[in-house]
Formats: sequence, C-alpha cells, structure tokens
Amino acid sequence: MAGNGALDARDRGAVLTRLATERFDVLVIGGGVTGAGTALDAASRGLRVALVEARDLASGTSSRSSKLIHGGLRYLEQFDFKLVYEALRERDLLVSKLAPHLVKPVSFLYPLYKKVVERPYVGAGLVLYDSMEGTRRPVPRHRHLSARGALKRAPALSPDRLAGAMLYYDAQVDDARHTLTVARTAAAHSAVIGTRLSVVGLLRSAERVTGARVRDEESGRILEVSAEAVVICAGVWTDLVHELAGVQAGYKVRMSKGVHIVVPRAAVDADTGMILRTEKSVLFFIPWGEHWIVGTTDTDFAGDRAEPVATEEDIEYILAAANRVLARPLIRADVIGVYAGLRPLVEPQTGNGAKPTTKLSREHVVDTPVPGLASIAGGKFTTYRLMARDVVDAAVADFDREVPGSVTEQVPLLGADGLAAVQPAVGRLAEDYGVPRAAVEHLLGRYGTLAAEVLELVKGDAALGRPLAPGHPYLRAEVAYAVSHEGALHVEDVLMRRTRLFIESADSGAAVAAEVAALMGRPLGWSRRRRAAETRRYLDLVEAERTRPAVDSVPAPGLALAAAR
Ligand SMILES: Cc1cc2nc3c(=O)[nH]c(=O)nc-3n(C[C@H](O)[C@H](O)[C@H](O)COP(=O)(O)OP(=O)(O)OC[C@H]3O[C@@H](n4cnc5c(N)ncnc54)[C@H](O)[C@@H]3O)c2cc1C
Repeated sequence: MAGNGALDARDRGAVLTRLATERFDVLVIGGGVTGAGTALDAASRGLRVALVEARDLASGTSSRSSKLIHGGLRYLEQFDFKLVYEALRERDLLVSKLAPHLVKPVSFLYPLYKKVVERPYVGAGLVLYDSMEGTRRPVPRHRHLSARGALKRAPALSPDRLAGAMLYYDAQVDDARHTLTVARTAAAHSAVIGTRLSVVGLLRSAERVTGARVRDEESGRILEVSAEAVVICAGVWTDLVHELAGVQAGYKVRMSKGVHIVVPRAAVDADTGMILRTEKSVLFFIPWGEHWIVGTTDTDFAGDRAEPVATEEDIEYILAAANRVLARPLIRADVIGVYAGLRPLVEPQTGNGAKPTTKLSREHVVDTPVPGLASIAGGKFTTYRLMARDVVDAAVADFDREVPGSVTEQVPLLGADGLAAVQPAVGRLAEDYGVPRAAVEHLLGRYGTLAAEVLELVKGDAALGRPLAPGHPYLRAEVAYAVSHEGALHVEDVLMRRTRLFIESADSGAAVAAEVAALMGRPLGWSRRRRAAETRRYLDLVEAERTRPAVDSVPAPGLALAAAR
C-alpha cells in the first residue's frame, strides 16, 4: 500500500531513530534525481530502503540543469543513437503517464542561416529524432518554417541572413521539484528519506559492505545505518565516496561546468523556446514562467564541487552567443539570475588521452567494485529511471532471494494520478478555496493532484493564500507545505529549491527571507532568535554566492566531505 509520502521536517528525529535501528535491504547515498529514482525503484520492488543526502534533496546537479527532458538533438550528431532513443522514450513516458503535472512539452525554434545545406541536414536529423519516439506521441512532430514564419514566432530574431527555421518539440521540468517528487513517491512506498546526513565511512563485514557511517550535519552526531547493499548515487562526489570505501571503481567522474543565465521574458520577444548552434555545442533559450533560462556552457572543472560559481567570462560567452541572432542584444543588466552546475560525466579509465567534455558520452555506467556495494554515474536527468533500474539490478544481484524486476514504468509520481479529472475543475477549486484561478493553475503545475493539500492549508488560514513575494506566483502556503510535506529544514531549501526565487528574483529572494523564516518557524517551533539566525544564514549564502571568486581549476579537495555541507 502506498502512503502519502509526506516528508515532514518535524519528524526528523523519528527518521534518525529508524535509520539507526532498522536494517535495510538497500541504502542509497545521494538525494539527486539518480538517488531518489534508485530509492523509488528499490522501494517499489518491495525492498526496505533508506536514502541519505548530505545537504538538501536536489542540492547538487539536480537543481542546476537546463531543465529539459529531451532526447538531445545534438547527440544524434555524435551517433549516440541508443542514448537518444532511450531518452525520447523516457520523455514520452514522463509526459504522458509518470509525471504529466511536472514534465510538459515545449517547442524549440531552430533558426537556419545557410539556405541550401542546412535545412536538409537539420530536417533529416529531426525526422530521425521524431521517428525514435514511441507510440504514445505526447508531443507533436517537427515542422518547417519560412523566414517569415520564424519571425512571426520569434520577432526577437534578427532578420539578417535568416533563411528559415525548424520547429520541434521536447519537454521541460522543474528539476528540483521533480527530484523531490520522486523522493516523496519513494517515501510513499515506505522508503526512509533523510537529509543533511553525510556518509563519512562505509561499514564492512569481512569483504562485504554492510552499511554506512553517517554524520548528522545538524547536530554533528554520528550514526550507523545497516543495509544488505549500499548504492552510491553521489554524482560528481562519486570518486570521493569510492575513496571513502577504499575501492577502485572501473571509472572516474569528470566534472564539466555548465552555466545558465536567467533574463526577463520581456527581454526576448518569442512565443517558443529556441536552440542555436554554437562553435562547441548548442545554446538554448528555455521559456521559464515570466523568464527565459539561457545556456549553457561546457568547461572542465576541478574546483569546489559544492558551490560551482559562474565567472564573468561564462556570462559574457552566453550573452555573446545569444546576441549573434537577436535583433535587440541582451545586456548584462538584463541578467537577473545566474546558476552553475556540474555534469557528472563518466570517463572510462582507458588512458587514451582526455576527450573534451562536450564529446564525452552522456550514457551511464554501473559498477559493483566489492560485494554489497554498487555505484552509478553519468547519464542524464531524462534517463534517471533507467539508471535507477540498472543500479538496483546490480545491487540485488547477489541477494540470496528472488527480487522482483523494476516496475517504475507503471508507477506514476505523486500528484499524477487523477490529474485529468482535476484540471477541468480549476474554476470550482478557485471558488471553493477563495483563491484566484491563476493560483490554482500554478499549484496544479507544481503539485498535480496534491495541490488540494496546499489549498487545505489556505482553508485553515486565509493569510496563507497571499503571494509570498510581489510579482511571483508562489503562495505563502507553499512555505508551510514545504516544511510539513517536503522536508524543508532551512530557508535556503525553500528559496532555492521548493520555490525557485533564488534564480527568478533579482535579489535572489533576500527580501522575503525573514518572511520565509517566520512561516517555517511556526510549525518548526523556532524562537525569534532562531528565526533571525536562519534568515541571516540565507542572506550570508546569497552574499557569498555574489562575492565568491570563481575558481574552476584548483586541485580537487581530497576527502573534504565537509565540502558537501
Ligand atoms: C548545466 C547542466 C545542464 C544539464 N541539463 C540537462 C538537461 O537539460 N536534461 C538532462 O536530461 N540532463 C541534464 N543535465 C544532466 C543532469 O542534470 C544530471 O545528469 C543529473 O542531475 C545528475 O543527478 P545525480 O543524482 O546523479 O547527481 P546530483 O544531483 O549531484 O546528486 C548527488 C547527490 O549526492 C549527494 N552526496 C554526495 N556525497 C555524499 C555523501 N558522502 N553522503 C550523502 N550524500 C552525498 C550530494 O549532496 C548530491 O545531492 C545537465 C547537467 C548540467 C550540469
């Protein structure tokens, strides 16, 4: 029986007790999309599962991606057909069945500048791309546009040299919200999920790994979690966890930094996303509510994994690449948010010399270096479900009992079931709960059918129905819900990941930090002093982000797991 998957921050003590006293079948290290997916895969096979995350769910790469659920048009050019095929099938499954409330189709305009050669080349790629879809077809096929047609959809484009365009479809997601929802769905299937819990050592019985030593980052307390198998889903931290375990894995993770800028929607006049070719890769304009996300870059990185920072050169590179096609150039003052993420790319240990990171495959690798330990890295956000399936298969392979195969293809994420019947009821819900229609639409797009739980909070306290920050759609009730159902422990969890005000607001959400601390403090019983300290902690973090020098190539810190704080 599936529960409601609430991750109630007030129950953290009980979670720690369960972790320290129960014996699990599978312990997952890392609460990014791969770890959350792995917890869900294992829990929905009937296994006893625990997941520990050193910071907050999705605080690593899984909140810093381009937020596309896509096959990856550019991987076709690299002949990575298997990856594209699998990713497109995953995209369609997510849009149509597993997470229609979170993963939504989005169109991309691909402007063409070389009259004769480009259209047949790109057109053939898109025919192949569309033909790799499954039978569900939840997103439309591509179309050819004339230059006039392209300018109609995207008046922002400069007409100079524009020969026409292609329009094709992929899908997009709020990556942090999706990761959280996967973790909650795992919890609904009995997984125990704990955050701000860093693995600092692995437990062994003879050769076999039998669990992990975990440090509670809130109290400094150490606890031991026992499990029949431990699965490392630590993204760019994977090599460090392998070192902790004292094992030699068959691959290393190479970090590649990708930067995005966020600009107001009004700065670029277009009713569709856009994709441009750049010298090294591609640049996306991705519609994001009242904003555009524009990026990305792809550069080798060996600095602080926990806080990769964008340099001015990264930002200038994106602006220059965007301005090659725009009639009105974007300027530095248009940029209201910037974020950097690290791709955990897998580098096989072949000794054939380093490839540029743009050329490294995005396929994933699973390893079982010693009994009781499996690890996975690489892959893409889009293929997290397949990654989870493969690593759980590897982790349970030597169990002395039959473990059922993966069933996640048939397990919709929380909020998906019954969505079709709720969408037409927006008007009624708005009346019943006394909130604007737009607020209900906003909630449905973030929580699906669980929106009713947020609306119930408004029913109990009408003040929670008010917007959290002027000019942004989030309601104050969403902060309370983040504590009671989404495991938010600190102000940054709410402003950076449960909502995205950190990247969507010119002040990174600083003006509402105290309000968020007050709303969180009520259910969590924070004193006035604690609320002030939590507010200060967030403001310091914003300040540090602004002033931290960007260093991409200092020697990687050895086992500095404190970096994961
Ligand atoms: C710029 C950029 C753009 C991207 N765009 C896309 C895209 O559009 N579409 C797509 O499909 N993919 C995209 N990707 C790839 C995708 O985002 C990643 O493949 C995916 O998010 C990786 O998830 P993960 O769970 O493996 O790693 P992470 O999200 O980094 O999770 C690893 C977690 O492990 C935790 N951890 C580490 N050490 C420990 C420890 N000792 N104890 C406990 N926890 C620990 C970390 O805190 C972290 O939260 C992009 C990546 C980047 C960088």
